[in-house]
Amino acid sequence: MSETIELRWFENTDRSCIQCGKRASGILRGSRNESYGPHCERCANKRLKASKKARSRVKGATLTPLHIRLLRRGVTGEWIGLSDNMGVRIGEVVALGELERMGFVEDAKGPFPPGPPSLPPAVITEAGRAALAAVVDAGRPVPPHGSGP
Ligand SMILES: [Zn+2]
Repeated sequence: MSETIELRWFENTDRSCIQCGKRASGILRGSRNESYGPHCERCANKRLKASKKARSRVKGATLTPLHIRLLRRGVTGEWIGLSDNMGVRIGEVVALGELERMGFVEDAKGPFPPGPPSLPPAVITEAGRAALAAVVDAGRPVPPHGSGP
């Protein structure tokens, strides 16, 4: 599972860790002070580190126009749909693999769209949304939604 980019600090508690079930020593908090639940110190530090790494991936991402187009499909639809044109689709599958390694998309958990069985569809992650927003905020050209390949 890809880590949220929101984690910031750890508040003390005596409940159980939601990651491992051991006695928690604190509450994991995000950038707006929102709770991510009680955690033991070990799990909290692991998640804080992963969240920081996810943020740096968002900051350092260089997205191609195809990457951006695929991420936009993840924002406007439940799944990132691929082209029916096999020539186009091959490039999209490669780009999706790159996005997955960057932590910006992941396999959907299902239930899956109707149709013949195939690979599980991809969905955009929180980091992927942030990366897409960063591109849009930077004022770089973004292909309009629904534009063909
Ligand atoms: Zn734990």
